[in-house]
Amino acid sequence: ERRAALAAATGPGATSDGHRIPLLVNIGGPADVPAALDAGAEGVGLFRTEFLFLDDSRNAPSEEKQTKAYRQVLEAFPEGRVVVRVLDAGADKPLDFLTPADEPNPALGVRGLRTLLDHPEILRTQLRALARAAEGLPVYLEVMAPMVADRADARAFADACREAGLRAKFGAMVEIPGAALRARSLLQEVGFLSLGTNDLAQYTFAADRQVGAVSRLQDPWQPALLDLVAISAEAAKAEGKSCGVCGEAASDPLLACVLTGLGVTSLSMGAASLPFVRATLAKHTLAQCERAAAAARACESAEDARAAAQAVLSGE
Ligand code: PEP
Ligand code: MG
Repeated sequence: ERRAALAAATGPGATSDGHRIPLLVNIGGPADVPAALDAGAEGVGLFRTEFLFLDDSRNAPSEEKQTKAYRQVLEAFPEGRVVVRVLDAGADKPLDFLTPADEPNPALGVRGLRTLLDHPEILRTQLRALARAAEGLPVYLEVMAPMVADRADARAFADACREAGLRAKFGAMVEIPGAALRARSLLQEVGFLSLGTNDLAQYTFAADRQVGAVSRLQDPWQPALLDLVAISAEAAKAEGKSCGVCGEAASDPLLACVLTGLGVTSLSMGAASLPFVRATLAKHTLAQCERAAAAARACESAEDARAAAQAVLSGE
């Protein structure tokens, strides 16, 4: 199966009946670009910019340093799509100079966009660096914020992007159940959604993603998580906007089919998973993916949801 998957490792992502699902990669910086290009990625669906901030424990990287790194990534995908996530510090990604040390529950504290709204100069520098990096390039830049909780968060981020003179589409990550439930209202402020299923699972089931003892609850096949994906994708469709997935869920070929059936519009994953996801999607029609999604949502557990989707997709 591995060999068959690698043989089919070219071309854009699509179901067997031609429904397009762009397959994008998650990267941490320019060093990840060669593997992304080898895998035939159509662009970047999640550029985790935190890694640029790890070299210096006291300061944010300069605008020049950031501009250079962003430009390197943007240049690698001419005409392609690159979705950059602004700094997501805190909780599982603490930064000494930004993350409060005294919070009892860091995952529920000041992290992600909350950190940036408390430190507007850091957000401004990052957005200006992105604007400069994209200057004169044909690439389609999208910039998104992590941990958007509500419409006010989405508006604050969009305002910051406009103020920085960024000519890009602004989006919100859906990682908090409240944001998924009100996806349509977030979309009054931003142009696209991207589901971060790792954090969305963590917050949906109140199960810390760093605590192995509760890892059962991190399973993205859980029907309640699939419900939140469906709500977000339906909201985006109603608003004529896109809703991708960039959490680990997208890297499971079977789940990728289910996510497609739920209505998500792109999938972003580690480069190593991309050929397998592409090959599996290419074996099923959109209608089969939709039936698999409905079967999974009708179940009461992650195990049953997976088995039900598998049964539909293998034609049992
Ligand atoms: C997520 O939460 O699913 C996500 C894509 O972001 P990260 O894993 O970097 O928190
Ligand atoms: Mg996240």
